[in-house]
Amino acid sequence: MLPSMSMTVSEKSGARYRSPANRALLRPAPQARRAVGQAAVTAGVLGLVAVAVLGVVSESAADLRVRGGAAMFLGGMAGLVGMYLALVQLLLISRIPQLERILGQDGLLRWHRRVGPWPIALLVVHAIVITVGFAQAAHTGFLHQLGVFLRSYPDMLLAVVGLALMVMAGVASIGALRRRMRRETWWVIHLYMYLALALSFAHVLALGPTFVGHPLTQAVWAVVWAATAGVVVVYRFGLPLARTLRYRLRVAEVRQEAPGVVSVICTGRHLDRLRISGGQFFAWRFMKRGLWWQAHPYTVSALPRPPYLRLTVRQIGDHSAAVARLRPGTRVAIEGPYGAVTPDARTHDKAALVAGGIGITSIRAVLEGLPKSARPTVIVRAPTAEQVVLRDEMAALVKKTHGTLHELVGPRSATGSPRTFLRKLVPDLTDRDVYVCGPEGFVHEVIAAAQELGVHRRSIHYEVYDW
Ligand SMILES: Cc1cc2nc3c(=O)[nH]c(=O)nc-3n(C[C@H](O)[C@H](O)[C@H](O)COP(=O)(O)OP(=O)(O)OC[C@H]3O[C@@H](n4cnc5c(N)ncnc54)[C@H](O)[C@@H]3O)c2cc1C
Repeated sequence: MLPSMSMTVSEKSGARYRSPANRALLRPAPQARRAVGQAAVTAGVLGLVAVAVLGVVSESAADLRVRGGAAMFLGGMAGLVGMYLALVQLLLISRIPQLERILGQDGLLRWHRRVGPWPIALLVVHAIVITVGFAQAAHTGFLHQLGVFLRSYPDMLLAVVGLALMVMAGVASIGALRRRMRRETWWVIHLYMYLALALSFAHVLALGPTFVGHPLTQAVWAVVWAATAGVVVVYRFGLPLARTLRYRLRVAEVRQEAPGVVSVICTGRHLDRLRISGGQFFAWRFMKRGLWWQAHPYTVSALPRPPYLRLTVRQIGDHSAAVARLRPGTRVAIEGPYGAVTPDARTHDKAALVAGGIGITSIRAVLEGLPKSARPTVIVRAPTAEQVVLRDEMAALVKKTHGTLHELVGPRSATGSPRTFLRKLVPDLTDRDVYVCGPEGFVHEVIAAAQELGVHRRSIHYEVYDW
């Protein structure tokens, strides 16, 4: 049925979402290109080697032999490599679309977390060891030398403040502490990293033996920093702003889907040009008092129906509860689309889709993007029947793709472990790609079960709804 102009937003959009999206009006996200990922890794490694070589060749044997020379050299190397890794860290979270399409935002974040301790640790080592070196050379103590640095070298004072900020952000990111903190608090502390790096920049060029008296290396280092800052500005701020202005989204309606779950239907312009695939998400910023300053990730719960775009949100905290109270007309800023859990990530034709709770938003949108040949087996796991949202839409899509839908409702003791239900409900699991989305514990259990049952890691695609 085509929605008529006399229908309300609710009726119009409701009718649209019950039937699959009109593919002629859609533009899927660009395909992930593995070659880009390989090139990025190669560039990262070559950069590291180049920095290390630069550090070594700028030091003469005579410099090393003087009192304190070895400590100064080691401290300098730790500083160079630490700063380089800090720039890599910035690039990992700068939302470069070509990398994001390969690893997804959570994949990039995982790498960011893995690399994270190294630059901070190396920069702390740098500060300590280089102070020791200067103290040895000047026949003085560590604390005295530190005082000299702080009093007589203005760039050094800034660098020490920068290092203190880095350590603070690093400590705040330690898993156990981060989990105790409000996400917003952690985020604000983390922003100080940008300031910390900016404060540290000058002392490297002014004092680093690799740079003093070497205008070429100074210029190269400055260009590398400027390029990294440019990437961050373009992809974290410029592109989201451009997309927000282009699509001009506003809330059209907030519809109750189930107790504690709402769909927000936005209207916008040019949505037929939006390149997005099922399973992708935006960071949404609702331009309303108290909400505008925070962007939260929510999956687009169906492929776009120009002029509509929909997200479906379970209320679990401040932001998600405020989403349920949004008024029509509220402006919406978007960052994205992000996410690599899309239909084109498949390594097989057929797919098994597993949703835990509100993870159904992603699974529903992936399902909509799958071709009939995927013959999807869809498993929806929820503690109560009313938590199975978008049920009619799921059923219609499964029917259209000649798939099978299983709802596992009730306590875990009744529905069984992921290993049990995957074995029972998807006998040909190893011939399928497995998509799973939902809370962290559930997703990791399904991944482990699928691997135990013989699914290759490359054929498992997942989105965890908390970071
Ligand atoms: C890629 C992705 C897609 C998501 N899609 C949906 C969706 O379609 N529907 C839905 O209901 N939920 C979705 N979520 C979860 C949703 O982002 C959180 O429930 C929401 O941000 C919670 O915010 P809050 O202030 O209401 O609750 P809080 O009490 O502040 O947070 C509850 C938990 O949500 C997580 N969280 C909070 N803020 C963020 C943030 N900015 N980024 C990442 N995680 C955060 C944290 O793990 C936190 O412990 C998605 C999450 C991710 C990572």
